[in-house]
Amino acid sequence: MASTSASVAGVEVSLDHWIGGKRVSSSDRFDNASPVDGSDLGAVAAGGKREADMAVEAAREAFPAWAALGAEGRLPVLRKFAEGLLARGKDIAAVETLDNGSLLTGNMHRMVPRAAQNISFFAEWALGLQDHAIDHAEVVNNVRYDPAGVAALITPWNAPMMLTTWKVGPALAAGNTIVIKPPEWAPLTCSLLADIAHEAGLPAGVLNVVQGIGEDAGDALVNNPGLARISFTGSTDTAKIIGQAAARSITGMSSELGGKSPFIVCADADLDAAAQTVAGQYINAGQVCLAGTRILVEASIEAAFLEKVRAAAARMTVGDPREAATRVGPLIHPEHFARVSGFVERAKAAGAEVLWGGARSDVGALYFQPTMFAGVRAQDEIAQKEVFGPVLTWQTFTDDGEAIAIANGTEYGLAGTLFCGNEERAMRIASAVVAGTLWVNCFFVRDLAAPFGGSRTSGVGREGGTHSFDFYCDIKNIAVRKGSFASKGN
Ligand code: ADP
Repeated sequence: MASTSASVAGVEVSLDHWIGGKRVSSSDRFDNASPVDGSDLGAVAAGGKREADMAVEAAREAFPAWAALGAEGRLPVLRKFAEGLLARGKDIAAVETLDNGSLLTGNMHRMVPRAAQNISFFAEWALGLQDHAIDHAEVVNNVRYDPAGVAALITPWNAPMMLTTWKVGPALAAGNTIVIKPPEWAPLTCSLLADIAHEAGLPAGVLNVVQGIGEDAGDALVNNPGLARISFTGSTDTAKIIGQAAARSITGMSSELGGKSPFIVCADADLDAAAQTVAGQYINAGQVCLAGTRILVEASIEAAFLEKVRAAAARMTVGDPREAATRVGPLIHPEHFARVSGFVERAKAAGAEVLWGGARSDVGALYFQPTMFAGVRAQDEIAQKEVFGPVLTWQTFTDDGEAIAIANGTEYGLAGTLFCGNEERAMRIASAVVAGTLWVNCFFVRDLAAPFGGSRTSGVGREGGTHSFDFYCDIKNIAVRKGSFASKGN
């Protein structure tokens, strides 16, 4: 079968799989259209069991040699991989924007450098992993971080390059080989990732990409018995299905899932900074799992703060994500648009008050106005379910206990944001909110060394720093009796 590619934003992108160091095609294809302007981005290979099995086999074959290199041996090629991502930064940013509608400037200045860092940071962190020893009266416990095997990495469409490299970095640095299943609504930058890895000298079979629909290619991949790990970022419902496959084969799984995160604003906070940050939740049309979508405001400042947020939200220009002035681009897909508008219409029907927005924007078919709902009750669907669009809710609280109760009143526990002027109070509230990450007087600051993940139905496990290696490695303890050797060396 001939290999197929497309010119996307002037960049040549293969629409095929990458398996065992070669492009592999499939006769089944799926259509991929740009949410920016509806343009056709090409028919992408739709893999299934055949392609998933081939990729796992290629990864298994490549594993022993890659694992044997050790962290030091892997470092040079992973550094080159990171440099390659930076060198192709303009291409990656342009393709990602056209493929998923995320902001071009954000992709260029934040996403690409971060993707490169995801590779280089973990490659360097891996160097120190084997130094860990725990002294005991009788023995020395030598803690070893052994490569686990083949890891399946499954990622969503809202930030494919950033979220995929966040898994690729530690998985490869740990000595694993990988099979990536990119999101079918934004599959293209993962294809570029394969080219860049290859150009950097990553051996054949170490990094594989199987394109396809989640229920076909993804399902075949997670049910392959040759996997040692599954790392998944996506919806809670999909995680429940993948988790069952992982359970059948006792395969370690890490999952980072949805959220309905609270954004708490205390009366003594820097209200201008808080208002600006609230409006920032509309960026990328709110298709950000970490977004603080439930605005909880101390009642005594409600009126004044609402005016500040209203003004800041009015500056969130809806438009083509390639334009520098745009803050809110399109929703990813007509199906997703229908889902977001469904939430909005049901909220209106249930009696919620639209403070602003609430309808399609006249920019284009998939563009939705930044929206704020007031008059919502804690149990309303719009206050409970993840919308994944530019839709926020507005509630008030009169004391910290009430703020914490509302904050914790959903099934989720991914993140939270708090603006507060008093340190003790801030730490008291922050400690009581159930979340994997709680930002105080800031938002979206993510240190690669810090633990990251979700509580409750927002996920299982933590990645970041050593936590990533706790997941991607088989950790072994070699307990050696002290003074038990007659000699050292050969
Ligand atoms: P989202 O709502 O963010 O699209 P999904 O959970 O549907 O989240 O998708 C996230 C990723 O999971 C995508 O790459 C998708 O193809 C994949 N996926 C969806 N269903 C399955 C499945 N049954 N098995 C494996 N992967 C799946």
